[in-house]
Amino acid sequence: MSNQRFGMKRREALRLLGIGAGAGLLPSVTDAAIAALAKQPTRSPAADGIPSGAIVRTLLEDVPPASLATVLFHEHLSINLRPAQPRPAGAPPPPTQNVDMILELVKRAGREGVSCIVDGGHPDMGRDLAALKRMAAETDVHIVASGGYYMERTYPPEVASKSEQEVASDLEEEARASRYGAFGEIGQMPNLAEMTANERKVFAAVGRAHVRTGIPIFTHNAYGTGPNVRPDAGLRQLDVLESVGVNPRHVAIGHSCCLDDLKADIFRQIAKRGAFVGFDRVTTVQQIMPDATKVQMVLAILEAGLADQLLLSADFTGQRTLEDGPGYARTVTVFLPLLRQAGVKDEVLQNIMTNNARRFLAFVPRNG
Ligand SMILES: [Zn+2]
Repeated sequence: MSNQRFGMKRREALRLLGIGAGAGLLPSVTDAAIAALAKQPTRSPAADGIPSGAIVRTLLEDVPPASLATVLFHEHLSINLRPAQPRPAGAPPPPTQNVDMILELVKRAGREGVSCIVDGGHPDMGRDLAALKRMAAETDVHIVASGGYYMERTYPPEVASKSEQEVASDLEEEARASRYGAFGEIGQMPNLAEMTANERKVFAAVGRAHVRTGIPIFTHNAYGTGPNVRPDAGLRQLDVLESVGVNPRHVAIGHSCCLDDLKADIFRQIAKRGAFVGFDRVTTVQQIMPDATKVQMVLAILEAGLADQLLLSADFTGQRTLEDGPGYARTVTVFLPLLRQAGVKDEVLQNIMTNNARRFLAFVPRNG
């Protein structure tokens, strides 16, 4: 960034937003310091507008939001998605089929400062709830499991035959029986201009199940680059959710970091409606949007004054870790240092990783 962009007046403004003027001159931060910082709880829930009686529903127990430190709000610890194209014969199984390996990676993420991981899978993504329970029981990391449906191509046939109300009731029942702490990731086909009729039904049903239970929602917006794709898919998702009574403050619009939104036009509109802007593919899917651009978009969000509505995670599915690459904590160990290098202050990062995530996940249980 040039000096011209960073005149004194601007520098002062950025200081107030938490972006340091000495970007690039900061001493490098050690991994241990990152982990220590990430583990340090901040602010009381009341200061964040979390109502009393609110909990975060992990697989093992309901916990006070304040007991969570660094949270990854969208990862995959168990996923066996039916591929869009048939898998070639002899292709290796998805990495998360190796539950022992993923268990070790979750332990490692805990050592690297992660206190809670939200799994973004559900039955139509091949999520194995028993595997998640094992990870919750055998590590120090809180695991939040999710429910819902992914997108038209993965829906089981009954989605088409059931009514919206039936899908909602069944999701509500499944959420209680399986201790879901979120509905997500709720997606739509990536290369269509509009949701399909069934996807609209699922979004409305998830919204109704949220209204009855309080359980928060995170989505997967249609971020594709085809000629039909509109950058405002996340806003249209909010339209459907709001039409059945969802308050957007309990919604994160996911894959926002795959949008080309350097001026934060869409991000501002998402935030203005009260929802979280979900940057859930930091360090991954670089062929769609490189991290350098994701950093620039985070800076645009901070400069727009929206730091309290940003969530960060990696949508990581365990690939490439057998070669000892960054694991599930990659948001903390790889992406946060990039933001620090760009001059974002630790207190801002901590606020995003901890306070924003607590506020997103916290809910007062309704109807038992
Ligand atoms: Zn995902």
